[in-house]
Amino acid sequence: MHVDVAIIGAGGAGLSLVTAIDRLLNAADVADQVQTPSVVLIDPVHHRTDDRTWCFWDRGLSPIEPAVHRSWTSVAVVDRRGGERRYSLGDLRYVMVRSSDFYALADDAAARIGAVRIPVEVDDIRDGDDRVVVQAGDEQVKARWVFDSRPAAPARSAHTALLQHFRGWRVRFNHRALNPQVPVLMDFSVPQLPGATAFGYVLPSDEFTGLVEYTVFSRDRLSPRAYDDALAGYLVERWGSGGVPGTYTVEEVEDGAIPMTDAVFARRSGRRVYRIGTAGGATRPSTGYAFATMQRQAEDMARAILAGRAPLPPRPHSRWHRWADAVLLRALDRGYTEGADLFPALFASGRADRVLEFMDGSGSLWSDLSVMAAAPVGAMSRAALGDLRARLRLGR
Ligand SMILES: Cc1cc2nc3c(=O)[nH]c(=O)nc-3n(C[C@H](O)[C@H](O)[C@H](O)COP(=O)(O)OP(=O)(O)OC[C@H]3O[C@@H](n4cnc5c(N)ncnc54)[C@H](O)[C@@H]3O)c2cc1C
Repeated sequence: MHVDVAIIGAGGAGLSLVTAIDRLLNAADVADQVQTPSVVLIDPVHHRTDDRTWCFWDRGLSPIEPAVHRSWTSVAVVDRRGGERRYSLGDLRYVMVRSSDFYALADDAAARIGAVRIPVEVDDIRDGDDRVVVQAGDEQVKARWVFDSRPAAPARSAHTALLQHFRGWRVRFNHRALNPQVPVLMDFSVPQLPGATAFGYVLPSDEFTGLVEYTVFSRDRLSPRAYDDALAGYLVERWGSGGVPGTYTVEEVEDGAIPMTDAVFARRSGRRVYRIGTAGGATRPSTGYAFATMQRQAEDMARAILAGRAPLPPRPHSRWHRWADAVLLRALDRGYTEGADLFPALFASGRADRVLEFMDGSGSLWSDLSVMAAAPVGAMSRAALGDLRARLRLGR
């Protein structure tokens, strides 16, 4: 099979590229000028269910708007003593996408552009001068460009490697328990674990149903039982008698572990082979958010494909943000500061929209500096010095 584009891995990043190609082909400025590229999607799994909930923030102009489940213009942050503060997001909105809706949107886009699905694992990729040969079971695909989102080792190993690991319950209460106008971004009133940052996260769909999550930043995952116990405890703590078993049912469970690391991931692994998604370093190290970055990259790569240019994914995060993240991760990991103090302080310091812009790398340098100024100076200086020593190979 000869194609223009082979996408390996039809998950968040691969499907973002498919939707971007379809969207651009329908855009008025390119519609009549370019041919639809031939595309194959190679993945043993055809995702259709709610296996993840993707949140990000934007200015009300999401390229995947039909898949948006809910959006909010303010968020709540709860400190470790239970003090809740609400923050307006200015002209930003916090957006929630349920994966089943995104997968359906991508299926429609794939059908419109005539993308072919090959439901097997890729075993081997051979780069070439003008074609890449992809071996997937018995199928051999020769492609002009390959986008690979299979898990990959970093190009430079980490000085600090944490995980953001979590379990979420999609809960249906038998009473009006939720305020659908305000999600709880971080609730640090949950018991903190030694050497870790733990918080609750609540995304209300309506007054009765929502995703309630227990999230931890630490080096290792917990046992499945520990997440369930923490979630049950959190429901009682937050909703009192309205959160005891019997007052709600758990409709779905979502698990995950996202790397939070200062390791460096390559954006290409051959002349015509590009790494995308988590494997290409799309995950913002200090937050675990990747979805908005994958959309930005997909838009750019799709434009290049349609224009006949080499579609190298744009750098996911600037050097400045990667450095700031390395320092922040080190400060958390080495215990120079505690996340349960740091994150509420960042939000309380000024404008929540600036904190979010800092978190996804869309803020100006000035705005980023104003956010960082709220972090404890001693802890950050110590971490910055440690980071410098590690880079100079004087220690880890
Ligand atoms: C539960 C969960 C919730 C998340 N929530 C958010 C969020 O709210 N906001 C945010 O910004 N980020 C979030 N993330 C982080 C990130 O956005 C997701 O992990 C995202 O799915 C990453 O996209 P990806 O394409 O890199 O990986 P995936 O979506 O995991 O896709 C990789 C694909 O590669 C396929 N594959 C693997 N090996 C092979 C092979 N040999 N051959 C062919 N195919 C193969 C897999 O089957 C899979 O479909 C979340 C992550 C998880 C796990």
